[in-house]
Amino acid sequence: MDDDVFLVRFWGVRGSIPVSGPESVRYGGNTICIEMRCGKHTLLFDAGSGLRSAGRAFRASGVTDFDLLFTHCHYDHIIGLPFFVPIYDRSVKITLWSGHLAGRKTTRQMVDEFMRPPWFPVKLDVCKASLDCRDFVSGDVLRPREGVVVRTGSLVHPGGCIGYRVEWGGRVVAVITDTEHEPDKLDQAVLGLIADADLVIYDCTYTEEEMERHRGDGHSTWQQGVKLCEAAGARGLALFHHDPTRTDDELDETEKLAKDRFAGAFAARDGQTLKFPVSLHKER
Ligand SMILES: [Zn+2]
Ligand SMILES: [Zn+2]
Repeated sequence: MDDDVFLVRFWGVRGSIPVSGPESVRYGGNTICIEMRCGKHTLLFDAGSGLRSAGRAFRASGVTDFDLLFTHCHYDHIIGLPFFVPIYDRSVKITLWSGHLAGRKTTRQMVDEFMRPPWFPVKLDVCKASLDCRDFVSGDVLRPREGVVVRTGSLVHPGGCIGYRVEWGGRVVAVITDTEHEPDKLDQAVLGLIADADLVIYDCTYTEEEMERHRGDGHSTWQQGVKLCEAAGARGLALFHHDPTRTDDELDETEKLAKDRFAGAFAARDGQTLKFPVSLHKER
């Protein structure tokens, strides 16, 4: 394992619902799931359908102790959890975190409620893994593993959503999905989470042209992602949470347009891995 690398792997980049077929071969059709490896520590963000593949990879590589942080619990961010093989393995220890329902539901209640009959054949209590459910409030600073700092903030999305800023080894990667921007305004909470980031993973469901028809849906655009990254001094922008109707060719075109405006922009794909070398003596 690379102890001196901050690794980001996309297991699911599609928003709303998984898709399959000849038009989503290159970018993939799994919904939201991101893995981050901070040296020997492994974090997962969201449990969309991409989580199933992450589970198979974890089993193959012997990853048995890690954190799973939820941005929120819409279907595209949770549907993979019942199909995540590590939860049925008694040698596995998972710490689950959420904060978007603070004061309304605990992380344990959230998971218990969707993983049970009649929605799924079995209940969470058949899981043999050790599941440690933690709750936090937006704005809290989490320290899930030694040396790993995770800052949290509220995004603009129906029912609430949490944005994350992960700091380790002098590197910063931010997860900003799902969120809606106001026209001609930069969200100060988002700017704080992405300041000087090496990579910003941003909700680019729509284009600015489409946005008017989708006000209130809780999503944003690649154009807004570029503006935010420029204002915050961020270096990389992963276009993410692709609309399910978007074809591979359309995403190629969007990526090209975004790159012309911001050199560090790219359209994220299922299975894509990025590595950021770190200096473990330099902490922010
Ligand atoms: Zn979503
Ligand atoms: Zn959502």
